[in-house]
Amino acid sequence: MVSTTIDDNPFHWLVDMLESVEVGLVVLDLEFRVQAWNGFMENHSGITASKIRDRVLFEVFPDIPQAWLTRKVDAVALLNTRAFTSWEQRPYLFQFRNTRPITGTEDYMFQNLTISPLSGPSGQVEKVCLMVYDVTDIATGKRALERANEQLAKLSMTDRLTGLLNRGTWENLVDAEYERYRRYGHATSLVMFDIDHFKAVNDTHGHLAGDEVIKHTAAVTKSAVRQSDSTGRYGGEEFGIILPETDAEGARIICERIRETIEQSVVETSVAPIQYTISMGIAQLNDEPENYMQWLQRADEALYAAKESGRNRVIIK
Ligand code: GH3
Ligand code: MG
Ligand code: MG
Repeated sequence: MVSTTIDDNPFHWLVDMLESVEVGLVVLDLEFRVQAWNGFMENHSGITASKIRDRVLFEVFPDIPQAWLTRKVDAVALLNTRAFTSWEQRPYLFQFRNTRPITGTEDYMFQNLTISPLSGPSGQVEKVCLMVYDVTDIATGKRALERANEQLAKLSMTDRLTGLLNRGTWENLVDAEYERYRRYGHATSLVMFDIDHFKAVNDTHGHLAGDEVIKHTAAVTKSAVRQSDSTGRYGGEEFGIILPETDAEGARIICERIRETIEQSVVETSVAPIQYTISMGIAQLNDEPENYMQWLQRADEALYAAKESGRNRVIIK
């Protein structure tokens, strides 16, 4: 017997190929009844071709955005051209579970979608073919990259030990707040504060215990201020707070709360329980400072006065 060449039955192997290709293929008539449904679609939906044949797609998949897909398909049929949608516009058309072992972090398969017109013998578009591409690997890669970039941007703005804004970032915000005051004249206050006798903490308990005390100070401060206030680590054991829409007396209330909380807390470090205090200086902005640095300077002078007059206190300047 003569062996069969592929040319003997081109239609047969073509269908086999479409059946097993790693792309979802769906043929719909213009009433959205399913005419073809390949192996990829069977595997991921769990619905066989014989089950879905001639059924309206939206009845089998109620989650598919009907108005959106109808608009797309109508345009394809009318203009006799292809249409394309990427996962970035719409993460998926069919809600299939993500089966990729490596990119198991995402719940659903990300899909690109192409819709092609299929013409009948008369040349009229009678059906459309949806091609569904699994782009989960690409999408997860890109998303991970975006998340990493976000984190990097955040890290370069914050201090590693405390998570507070670092000095550069915080000073930029002081500058911005200064300019805002010049324009709108709203009451705004600046606080500088510093841990009392911190050298002694380091000398007695070691640098690591000192770090714990710095972290505790940051945590107390963060929980005492509002979302709109900005707290920064200005130096080793020196901190700053910007209090927008707050006059000096309002600032004093917040500062006293922080000062008292710290005075009353015991930091349980791995070497010893540590008690400590802080001194705080407040400067409400007025028209005197010619730039934000002079405003900072005034808060620093208030802090110095608090140190001079005995520490563990709040001074307004
Ligand atoms: P005062 O009450 O006048 O503020 O006294 P002080 O001892 O706190 O003041 P001083 O500024 O002289 O000492 C600060 C010390 O903080 C010196 C430095 O070794 C230490 N320090 C600075 N940064 C860090 C840090 O990140 N971790 C630790 N553990 N210590 C730090
Ligand atoms: Mg100090
Ligand atoms: Mg200091």
